[in-house]
Amino acid sequence: MITGTTKLLGVIGHPVEHSLSPLMHNAALNKLGLNYIYLPFPIEPQNLAQALDGFAAIGVVGFNATIPHKQAIIPLLSEIEPIAQAVGAVNTVVRKNDRWIGTNTDVEGFIAPLQLLDRDWSQITAVVLGNGGAARAVVAGCTQLGCASVHVVGRNLQKLVEFRDSWKDSPLVVNLQVHQWDTLPKIIDRANLLINTTPIGMYPQIENSPLEPELFAHLPKGAIVYDLIYVPSPTKFLQYAQTTNLIAIDGLEMLVQQGAAALKIWLQRETVPVDVMRQTLQQQLYQK
Ligand code: NAP
Repeated sequence: MITGTTKLLGVIGHPVEHSLSPLMHNAALNKLGLNYIYLPFPIEPQNLAQALDGFAAIGVVGFNATIPHKQAIIPLLSEIEPIAQAVGAVNTVVRKNDRWIGTNTDVEGFIAPLQLLDRDWSQITAVVLGNGGAARAVVAGCTQLGCASVHVVGRNLQKLVEFRDSWKDSPLVVNLQVHQWDTLPKIIDRANLLINTTPIGMYPQIENSPLEPELFAHLPKGAIVYDLIYVPSPTKFLQYAQTTNLIAIDGLEMLVQQGAAALKIWLQRETVPVDVMRQTLQQQLYQK
């Protein structure tokens, strides 16, 4: 119930109407019985600074940032946590002592399902398909886990080189190599952890996989195949991994855990109802 003391959270983006965050966060806030509401705020890029001033004026507690604000918001904030500096993007902002503090919970979201697995990460070679925004959180996550090396595979050499060079001044020391797509068959037998950060496998490409079906047999025994896509689930990429007896992880848990990490920051709580957040999304996405 909205009352005179309801506190405000939300997500800024453009567009933002397809965001699942309001559903997930309001379910958690309801479960906790807290007088908060989480709203979508469609904010055009040129209005970002004004929106931030408005949020400060009306006492917004915190918010998520999505496309196209994840990088653009950085110079407008008072402080950026080192992990967000490393990734070069902010997805979570909190108001503290009249200052906006930005962080990135995508990294924590990405590594959460991996941390449940029993692995010596120092022996793991990670291969990341794609070099866009999500790949940055994935590279930071693999580095935080302590992976021996990270190989990023992309289709555009110039973008790959820029991606590699962008980590040179990062607070994270990243052992990173970049490769063009046609090199993938040569490095696939080292990929103990293979992550798809491209949209290949999402609608309308649901019959496609970023890795040819015959190459799955070349992955090391026990390899982890992780798709950031959560609809459909499983994607073709994960179906091929399952039929090759590899470990398959879809993108839903990353979505849930990045949200849970943000909610903990805003509410200053050690725990939030992650199960409710996960179930709410599963019902919405898969009618489970
Ligand atoms: P992005 O910044 O647009 O990056 C996409 C990357 O995929 C780019 O490197 C792009 O290559 C590459 N790519 C696109 N089509 C390709 C193709 N046909 N062949 C080879 N490479 C191709 O997007 P993003 O924000 O990183 O998101 C990527 C995916 O991750 C999306 O499916 C998104 O839904 C998912 N995601 C999931 C979560 C989660 O919580 N589970 C969070 C974030 C993102 P170029 O650079 O050459 O164009």
